[in-house]
Amino acid sequence: MVLEHADTVVLGAGIAGCALAYHLAGKNVGAVVVYDPRTPAAGATGRAAGVVTEQLWNEWDVEVARASKNEYAQLAARWDPSAFTANGFARFTAHAAAAQVLVETLGRLHSWNVDVRAIGAEELTRAVPWARLDDLAGAIYSPHDAVVTPSSLTEIYAEGARSRGADVDFGAPFRSLEADAGAWRVAWGTREVRANRVVVAAGAWSKKILANVHHPLPLAPYRTQAAVLRPPPGGPIPFPSVHDIDLDVYVRPEDQGRILAGDGTELVEVDPDRTGGGGDETFLTHLAETFETRFPGWAEAELVRAWAGVCTSTPDRRPFVGPMPEAPGLNVLTGFNGFGVMRAGGVAQRLAAYLGVGEGATAEREALRPVLPERFPPGTPAVAPRPGFTLEAGDHPRF
Ligand SMILES: Cc1cc2nc3c(=O)[nH]c(=O)nc-3n(C[C@H](O)[C@H](O)[C@H](O)COP(=O)(O)OP(=O)(O)OC[C@H]3O[C@@H](n4cnc5c(N)ncnc54)[C@H](O)[C@@H]3O)c2cc1C
Repeated sequence: MVLEHADTVVLGAGIAGCALAYHLAGKNVGAVVVYDPRTPAAGATGRAAGVVTEQLWNEWDVEVARASKNEYAQLAARWDPSAFTANGFARFTAHAAAAQVLVETLGRLHSWNVDVRAIGAEELTRAVPWARLDDLAGAIYSPHDAVVTPSSLTEIYAEGARSRGADVDFGAPFRSLEADAGAWRVAWGTREVRANRVVVAAGAWSKKILANVHHPLPLAPYRTQAAVLRPPPGGPIPFPSVHDIDLDVYVRPEDQGRILAGDGTELVEVDPDRTGGGGDETFLTHLAETFETRFPGWAEAELVRAWAGVCTSTPDRRPFVGPMPEAPGLNVLTGFNGFGVMRAGGVAQRLAAYLGVGEGATAEREALRPVLPERFPPGTPAVAPRPGFTLEAGDHPRF
């Protein structure tokens, strides 16, 4: 076996790894290789709902999601217009206390220039006539939020990376990753590559990969589910994506008049290699009950398919992006807490800018400050998975 050399090996061809390769290959950094033992988007990306919203918890995330959205709109317009639809996004509650938090959320989002406003039951029912909203206590609506097809965007990124000279290699089994005298050696299939840098962008598998090289991060893989259903024809298309905060169920428009519905985090850590990909009875029952009470117009929808995917939780809900402390050349791009599609493009731009400059990239590193792995001291234990799309107002610090 001939030992190959590269500047950067990206481990993982989900939307994050492919977006990073696309941006990095456009910089003058030397050879970029992306490797995945499966196919691009075979992990969480190919199972994601593809909701992209700016209704987020801190300004950094809003900026990143906005950058992603702009990039997805441009890439889809050029390569696959069906992969991006600006349909808007509404969240609502029937509880007064949660409605009060929504009011506070509006104020915070406005301070970050997010185009979002309160919406009344009547207007929301006109947009989503399948819903029963007569008990609504509060709702907010961001008209420029979008839905995307994550697997299509991942393919666009992968092809874009290839056309910029990156080597995108997938399908062969992973063999090893190890430090090698100031560099990193990665082996898979019949290949072995020595690289100045490696970026672990392996979604739920990142935890094991990092633990095996003795640089663990507090990550907790967890399961989340979604389903595509075919409702009776009729109603506005596309309608805004909606999230019932109380029942933690969201619904977005899907192609061919279908709908895609999902619910929240399962609060137990799982092993991504031992987690089934199918939707389970409990999930489908929860969906059916939610439709009966909240979306009666969809109660008769026929199930097309249901599935589960594995996301990765972090103790503070922010991802881990950038250089690992005490591990020269080892970088991470993971821990998206169920929001990796909407973050990937914007985060990849920032990480590529940092890696493109190399040591001394002070401003570029500062742009990653809230998500740098160094924010947790080595040895910090992983916490149990935390619900993704909460109303918690606590996570909006200074940045
Ligand atoms: C049901 C569901 C709904 C979701 N809805 C949304 C949503 O609406 N909006 C949103 O923003 N996010 C959503 N998400 C979350 C989103 O899917 C993830 O945050 C995102 O896809 C993470 O992308 P990734 O590239 O980091 O990881 P992944 O897509 O999981 O990719 C990781 C890749 O690493 C590969 N890999 C594994 N081991 C190795 C190895 N040893 N070497 C190299 N590669 C390896 C895997 O094969 C995989 O392809 C949802 C997720 C699920 C499951």
